[in-house]
Amino acid sequence: MSPADNDQSEAELLKALLAERDLPCPVCGYNLRAIASTNCPECGATLDLRVGSTDLKLGPWVVSLLALSLSLGCVALYTIITGIPILLSPYARDSPGIFTWFAITLTFGVGCTLLLWRLIRTRKKFWAKPRKAQCRSAVLYALLPSAILVSPVVIRLLSRMF
Ligand SMILES: [Zn+2]
Repeated sequence: MSPADNDQSEAELLKALLAERDLPCPVCGYNLRAIASTNCPECGATLDLRVGSTDLKLGPWVVSLLALSLSLGCVALYTIITGIPILLSPYARDSPGIFTWFAITLTFGVGCTLLLWRLIRTRKKFWAKPRKAQCRSAVLYALLPSAILVSPVVIRLLSRMF
């Protein structure tokens, strides 16, 4: 079967599927029942056949993605807050604490970037996990931005203790 024959049979399958079903256009929501071509009559979008799954729930993965993005945002903010005095103030450069802070925020930044990269690369493994395991991972990721936000306070308290 040539690619052109394949396209022709897919178009016929699509029209047969829509002949007696009320299904909305994924772009504009127009009811596609009994359409004559493989384009939406309302918005002109090209339509094709796909396999979906009711088991694919993206909520926990999206929460994880947002949590890691927020963490990266916090880290970027801390990097700017510590980086600007290092660049501009000779007094700040004499303080060893500010370099420690800069190193800590950079480490957080690299860690968050690696986690984000891994979450995106292994998304299909994440989606295939049982729902409870997905939610557990999402909760752990969601704790990360708050952990990063309170880290300056914790580190300051620890540095006073020792
Ligand atoms: Zn449409």
